[in-house]
Amino acid sequence: MKLTFIGTSHGVPEAEHRCSCTMIETCGRIYFVDMGTQAIEDLRRRDIPPEDVKGIFVTHMHGDHVNGLLSFVDICNWYFTSADPKIFLPTAEGIEALKGWINALEKRPWRGIEINLAHEGVVYDDGFFKITAEQTKHTRASFAYFAEAEGKTALFTGDLRGVNEDYPKGAFGRTLDAVICESAHIDPRDYAAVFEKSDIKRVFINHCQPRKMPLVPELAKTCDKFPVRFATDGMEVKL
Ligand SMILES: [Zn+2]
Ligand SMILES: [Zn+2]
Repeated sequence: MKLTFIGTSHGVPEAEHRCSCTMIETCGRIYFVDMGTQAIEDLRRRDIPPEDVKGIFVTHMHGDHVNGLLSFVDICNWYFTSADPKIFLPTAEGIEALKGWINALEKRPWRGIEINLAHEGVVYDDGFFKITAEQTKHTRASFAYFAEAEGKTALFTGDLRGVNEDYPKGAFGRTLDAVICESAHIDPRDYAAVFEKSDIKRVFINHCQPRKMPLVPELAKTCDKFPVRFATDGMEVKL
């Protein structure tokens, strides 16, 4: 599977970093973990038909992870009407708000794009791509996601309350081809202890607060078995 980091910023956009959004491509099918930025524009720029988007998985209802969904759903709702993505949001309020926004747009009533409530365990499996969620403590309804395709697994931590108390336990004892983890709310050096409990192939730090960036190379020095890199906007990674 191929990961494309569309947006890697911490809670607000910066000159070179947009808000959280990662595109995942497998077998000609497109999925997203978070859509905090205008991903519809990236799809158009890359000439990827919105109809190829099969699933969108939101880690939690903070604007930097979800705001881009409004325009994506709006444009699929009235223009790319054969697009039929399955969307997973962590709260019922989020689902109602999204439908309410579309209904508020003049003469574009909600045409029934499927939106589901995310939950712990397997939330999605279409035979090509599987997403398993583990609840975290960042908000009252926040999730880390394990994404599996082509025999590979990527862990998206989403935002965390802290490493020791909140790093997903489902990671322990398994092989992770990529770990994509945030570093806005935590000291990145704290990851070293939990990383030891998995067989990790590579780590990407995204959602990193500028004042914590100098600490990431210190984490990288501690982790000598696999590379630790910053994820940057537009970076593509084949797992
Ligand atoms: Zn965030
Ligand atoms: Zn957040």
